[in-house]
Amino acid sequence: MGKGANHMVLEGQTVKIGEKFDLGDGVKADTPGKSGVAGHDINCRCFVTHDWLTAEEYAAAVKKQGDKTVDKSAESGIIKNIDVDDLELAVYGKDVDEKAVKIIKKYFVDNSLADGYYINNISMKSIQNDNEKEKGRPLIQTIANKRGNMYETDIVLNEDIFKGRSIDSLNEMLKNYKNNIAQTFEEAVIHEVGHAKTIFSNRFRDIEAMYDKLEKMGVEGISAIALNDGAEAVAEIEILIHRGSVIPKQAKELYDKVMSGKLET
Ligand SMILES: [Zn+2]
Repeated sequence: MGKGANHMVLEGQTVKIGEKFDLGDGVKADTPGKSGVAGHDINCRCFVTHDWLTAEEYAAAVKKQGDKTVDKSAESGIIKNIDVDDLELAVYGKDVDEKAVKIIKKYFVDNSLADGYYINNISMKSIQNDNEKEKGRPLIQTIANKRGNMYETDIVLNEDIFKGRSIDSLNEMLKNYKNNIAQTFEEAVIHEVGHAKTIFSNRFRDIEAMYDKLEKMGVEGISAIALNDGAEAVAEIEILIHRGSVIPKQAKELYDKVMSGKLET
């Protein structure tokens, strides 16, 4: 029930604005909806607080969106967060542990508006890893897709890993992975929230240039991925904030600059 209408919503959000292309990291723009320009494909096996729009502003924006096409809404900067139907559609028939879905829902659907970020699209597909620098397969990818004059945030869940795997197994897998600090599936999702916030808070800027800069701005004392890439450092810091841990000064400064769109120095 509602699947048809739902599907139309997805279709509506994913108006084709360019040619089908490869996002890299094995993610192909293979549906009408996934053919936006990839600003950056954050490929970690990865597995908080800001105010940009008030709830009222957001509600007004969504209401205003009304019968406009998605293309128009993107041009005018009006965006829509995914809803629970979008998530259910993404995992429909894929044998994903309900507990994992619940956690995904909490951060990518329920918390997003209140915490000041948006997830515009969510999907589940097989993701192979052909990035030589990276080892292993990504669990979740957070992707900045250019739409009109802004970037939207897309979440891609790796079907190869989720399918048939219990939450305990996901937790165990993450616990044994040494390059990042996520110890649980929930923390892996929080890491992705860090990426999503980065995209949202810089959605009208030149995100590709920002990531180029961040690549040379690793942070010491957090994790291997944070050391190699400032974007990953920011995502790792999201976990530290959630834990209430002490955050190294250099890390906090980088986080604040990125989240306030002031990464100019
Ligand atoms: Zn990451």
